[in-house]
Amino acid sequence: MKATVAVIRCENYQIENVRVAVQRGIQLLGGVSAFARAHEKILLKPNLLSGSRPEKLVTTYPTVFQAVAEVFKATGANMFYGDSSGMGSLERVARQAGIKEVADNLGIRPADFQTVAPVSFPGALLAKQLRLAAAVLEADGIISIAKMKTHGFTRITGAVKNQFGCLPGLQKAEFHVKMPDVYDFSRVLVDINSYLKARLRLFIMDGIVAMEGNGPSGGEPAAMKVLLFSTDPVALDAVFCRLIDLDPEFVPTMKFGEESGLGVYKPDEIQIIGDDIEPLINKNFQVVRRPPERLASARSFPTFLKNRISPRPVINYERCINCGNCVQMCPVTPKAVDRPDGDKNKKPIYDYKRCIRCYCCQEICPEKAITIKIPLLGRLIY
Ligand code: SF4
Ligand code: SF4
Repeated sequence: MKATVAVIRCENYQIENVRVAVQRGIQLLGGVSAFARAHEKILLKPNLLSGSRPEKLVTTYPTVFQAVAEVFKATGANMFYGDSSGMGSLERVARQAGIKEVADNLGIRPADFQTVAPVSFPGALLAKQLRLAAAVLEADGIISIAKMKTHGFTRITGAVKNQFGCLPGLQKAEFHVKMPDVYDFSRVLVDINSYLKARLRLFIMDGIVAMEGNGPSGGEPAAMKVLLFSTDPVALDAVFCRLIDLDPEFVPTMKFGEESGLGVYKPDEIQIIGDDIEPLINKNFQVVRRPPERLASARSFPTFLKNRISPRPVINYERCINCGNCVQMCPVTPKAVDRPDGDKNKKPIYDYKRCIRCYCCQEICPEKAITIKIPLLGRLIY
């Protein structure tokens, strides 16, 4: 059977327009009763990567969250929301992103994304032990509301990657250290989704204004004017790829998602319903159109060569405000980005020999001061 993805055009973030689009998308997939019933515990999982204002487009836009929340609230379900943000408490990040106010107005409570719940997953592609946020396991159903963005590590951050936030913050960092290779990391992303498959009921993607270029936090706005809906996160991400003219084979979660039975990604396996996709395709969308560089592929290279070919984060010191977020976020010990001599007055610098290229520092930088660059030698090889 084919996977179904509803493509719904939405011109802007005005709540009236978003409400119509969200209701239409959910209706096309069978209506909200297909995804939630009264008294069930339903977790809304937006992208709350960092405490950025909505107009920065790092997080799920508040009116998208609102329109989805209103639809599910009307079922009589017991609603809560949360995400494991890169930095700061859920409430602080949600307040800055404009989500908390919406949730408070609708009586939707914040979830516990601090408490760790260990689980075993013998059927995993790679991560046979996972340490999830307790709130995720408390939920009868999860509605994942991803943001359409690029990502320096995994090419895109979409429906599958949104569930990385189901790991509490420290666990996320730990996984980056354990899985520095993007292909291993992508297997883990698929494992998290596969483990939660029975709970993950609906995937929605906010692509009204997407982020292109230096995503997932330092990119530029790209008005894609679209919301996507599906019960298959792999198929949804494949349609995202089609919208930005990116070969889905360049996104490792596609093949691993298919291999594990999580979803499908080939065009003849996906039925698109709703609006005509063709006028929404943006072939000029700024995204890296080649497979992710395999840091571990450089295993065959000596270390000094590996550092000369692997894409690396680079700080633009004119933009850097020396907030220290990148230092705090860096998961390796000793830090691969740090202030010289520990002097808080000095801006951070990199030690690329220690850097595992997880790009967490780039993700969390509030000033778009960190970009991913391929060294000259790497450009000749990749
Ligand atoms: S997170 Fe960005 S702005 Fe803050 S210290 Fe690091 S590079 Fe500078
Ligand atoms: S410096 Fe940045 S990319 Fe390198 S390990 Fe630290 S957070 Fe990851």
